Amino acid sequence: MNRRYLKSTLYAVAVFALLLFAPASQAFFVEPSSEASNPVDVIVIDPGHGGVDSGALGRGGLTEKDVVLGVAMGLRDVLRERLPEVKVLLTRENDTFIPLEERIGLANSAHADIFISIHVNAARNKKASGVETFFLSYLPTDAEAMELAEAENRVVQQKSGKSDDEVNSEVATNDLKNILHDLAQSVTHHESSALAEAIQVSMVKGTGRPDRGVKQAPFTVLEGASMPAVLVEVGFISNRREERWLKGVKVHKRIADSIAHGITEFAVEVNRRAARIKSDERAER
Ligand SMILES: [Zn+2]
Repeated sequence: MNRRYLKSTLYAVAVFALLLFAPASQAFFVEPSSEASNPVDVIVIDPGHGGVDSGALGRGGLTEKDVVLGVAMGLRDVLRERLPEVKVLLTRENDTFIPLEERIGLANSAHADIFISIHVNAARNKKASGVETFFLSYLPTDAEAMELAEAENRVVQQKSGKSDDEVNSEVATNDLKNILHDLAQSVTHHESSALAEAIQVSMVKGTGRPDRGVKQAPFTVLEGASMPAVLVEVGFISNRREERWLKGVKVHKRIADSIAHGITEFAVEVNRRAARIKSDERAER
């Protein structure tokens, strides 16, 4: 059974089980406004790949891990400037390898309110170009989104040193755990989609690159996030022209600025809502 089929089946079984035991599982279907009342205090930025894992490679020699580190550092600096009261952390600040689960683990233990993983796209179609933003779902938007998630997830299996069977059975157990967790996080799901939308709109505006839209796919790095979490693909390294574009330090800054703008808009909205909920609570007392 291939992994995609297995995931869809597990998803269907999990949804069915939840519907069957609906009274006991009402907590899974909370209204977004009832939970999302925390202001944004901590943001974790995750530059994808690093160390032995170079990520996607351009024909001109550019590596994904270098581009995303440049963009992430720029994003950290501009966010610290624009949101001085917010703590901004990076999962890596240099060329080191960090397993995917550790990245989201760090965000969870830092009680992050926003998690953003930065990546560079690659496609068989050398003409593919533009920016896209993802949030977690076990049902991918389309075959292309699934293929991309599989490529970005591959590093886990490569580095574990385990056989395919061992990995598959672990993956199946984790998949079910994660699917249940994902369903429980319907609030986060809604917020992740809003965050993705804000970043995508702002990235297209700020970079002038083609808009590939907001999509969903099962990215391991987003699994188990207890905060709004997105993954951005800032351009195609497999496209010769876009690879050249991605090389520029000024471009990294421009991409960072545009992502920061989207995050700031989202954070301002979340904080406004948190303040409103707080004042409503005070009025009720
Ligand atoms: Zn990547």
